Amino acid sequence: VSPPPTLAALFSTDPIDRARHSIGRSYRDVIRGIRGELGATVDAVVRPTSEADVVAALDWANDAGVAVIPFGGGTSVVGGVEPTRCEDYDGTISLDMSNLDRVLEVDDVSRAARVQAGVLGPALEDQLRPSGLTLRFFPQSFERSSVGGWLATRAAGHYATRWTHIDDVTESIRAVTPIGVWESRRLPGSGAGPSPDRMLLGSEGTLGVITEAWLRLQPRPVHRARATVAFATFAEACAAVRAIVQSGLDPAACRAIDGDEARITGTHPDGAAVVVLGFESAHSPVDELLARAVECCADFGGAVVDGSAAAGGAGDAWRSTFVRAPYLREWLVLLGVLTETFETAMTWDRLPAYVEGVRAATLDAVRRVCGAGLVTCRLTHAYADGAAPYFTVLAPARRGSELDQWAEIKAAASEAILAADGTITHHHAVGRDHVPWYSRQQPEPFRRALQEFKNEVDGSGILNPGVLGLRV
Ligand SMILES: Cc1cc2nc3c(=O)[nH]c(=O)nc-3n(C[C@H](O)[C@H](O)[C@H](O)COP(=O)(O)OP(=O)(O)OC[C@H]3O[C@@H](n4cnc5c(N)ncnc54)[C@H](O)[C@@H]3O)c2cc1C
Repeated sequence: VSPPPTLAALFSTDPIDRARHSIGRSYRDVIRGIRGELGATVDAVVRPTSEADVVAALDWANDAGVAVIPFGGGTSVVGGVEPTRCEDYDGTISLDMSNLDRVLEVDDVSRAARVQAGVLGPALEDQLRPSGLTLRFFPQSFERSSVGGWLATRAAGHYATRWTHIDDVTESIRAVTPIGVWESRRLPGSGAGPSPDRMLLGSEGTLGVITEAWLRLQPRPVHRARATVAFATFAEACAAVRAIVQSGLDPAACRAIDGDEARITGTHPDGAAVVVLGFESAHSPVDELLARAVECCADFGGAVVDGSAAAGGAGDAWRSTFVRAPYLREWLVLLGVLTETFETAMTWDRLPAYVEGVRAATLDAVRRVCGAGLVTCRLTHAYADGAAPYFTVLAPARRGSELDQWAEIKAAASEAILAADGTITHHHAVGRDHVPWYSRQQPEPFRRALQEFKNEVDGSGILNPGVLGLRV
């Protein structure tokens, strides 16, 4: 592609830049990156420095028949930023939003901030710190992912309850679409018809490029209490989590972790299932709340193994492994370990059978494809009516066959999820990888309406082709 002179300064065709913007961060991406076999690559990386640049880039791309892939931090694990299915275009650009990285305004009366979409987690919190407020939104990819990416994928932070999805903290969104700027009103709530924000949340770059949002803030917590509780079985640990959330307690952390995962993460050495509990508050001590949650655990045979706030306990081991896991994963891949994670959600009435069914189908595929391996599970998010199981696959990969092995295991796990009426994703998004299963999960009238919506907003279909299964 050759940019018009007015946009030339924003364009990079550096090969490394193009390569980095053509893959995300899934196991498949890491393998392809290590091998240097990326497949299709974007023709250029375009870095707007203002919303006007975004408008100009979209206008040019629309006229030139060039596909546009919005790029935040590039941490997609579902093929959200790669240029496959862009073959019918005259070119593809990655629209890297990293220069739009400012907190523009803080309203400390309503506790909200106007934030540019390209800001990454740490830079966002650094800019909010002087106000004493925080977005308190921490996905595991916090260090490398952006506000625009969180909104576009309906990301979830790692707090187990209450405000944990980016949806919960979104007051309004501003986006550039091929037919004009789309900005919703800043309101604490509104019953005026279908929500314009809801249409953009989860749109994954297919309906517009998010440039700004007003996001709800909270005071920084100062009171904390935590405990780790061991159980004879994972099912009992899950039942305790249900009792805790249904009793109206709102723990910040409330993760049921199965025995294998507890052992691997160093949370519990002998392989007992555990619940890692944590409470936080900006206003009042939380020890009483923790004591009540521990009582709920005792009803299911749970015994406290670490109730200290001191560093080095079981909760600390879990937290430390959780924070380091993304970096550790890249080493495991180099050592020949197939490491895949996938997540879903189910209501409590069906959760125990669901977890064991999905685990068994995935383990079966792992053994068939890799000869051996582990499938561990934890509940990452808990609701009054259900929870989000998160599975980790660790298996010996065969060098040269990793991508085929991954695809077979991924398909088996996804089929088991769909067969049991679960969701193909709780927070990792749809991207390109999940389309075959997402398409089956959508109600047919909704699928058709979404396609018509896309046709109206992006008539030439230049925005992130193939994502969400939308056609040109
Ligand atoms: C190690 C690891 C841990 C993870 N943990 C979590 C987790 O805890 N919770 C969670 O929810 N996810 C998690 N993810 C997945 C990923 O981090 C999220 O999907 C995240 O929201 C992506 O943000 P990003 O800025 O990196 O977006 P990108 O990867 O750059 O893009 C993701 C999608 O959003 C679109 N997009 C990006 N910016 C914009 C924009 N400004 N306007 C319109 N569309 C845009 C892209 O086109 C793409 O379709 C994890 C990923 C990794 C690698």
